[in-house]
Amino acid sequence: DTLRHDPDCLFCRIVDGEIPSERVHEDEQVIAFRDLHPKAPVHVLVVPREHRRDVTQLAAEPALLSHVTTVAAHLAGELADGDFRLVFNTGAGAGQTVFHVHAHVLAGGTLAEGEL
Ligand code: 5GP
Ligand code: ZN
Repeated sequence: DTLRHDPDCLFCRIVDGEIPSERVHEDEQVIAFRDLHPKAPVHVLVVPREHRRDVTQLAAEPALLSHVTTVAAHLAGELADGDFRLVFNTGAGAGQTVFHVHAHVLAGGTLAEGEL
């Protein structure tokens, strides 16, 4: 998990541009792109460039975790009205399918009617 790039990891390949994505933000630490199967009017994923498995690993790097949340808030303001839900699915039992940490930013529309 400390590998910077895992050639078998989908999001490492998206970070490196081997797999195309619709990017909405990029900087030295993270990229953000539109989810392929959006579950809200705005659904983007904020992804550290370096491979980390999940948010429990990210918690050991508070500056990076903080940056992910800052970018999420910025994008919610840029792409929607500023209100947003931030979700880290952690572990297969919680619905994590890509084991490269990503923050789901869900915004716009009728989020208040969501189940959480
Ligand atoms: P998880 O279930 O691991 O929390 O979230 C993985 C997310 O990645 C899902 O919402 C899924 O729609 C999205 N996803 C899976 N493959 C791709 C892809 O190739 N491109 C993009 N943009 N999103 C993807
Ligand atoms: Zn990865």
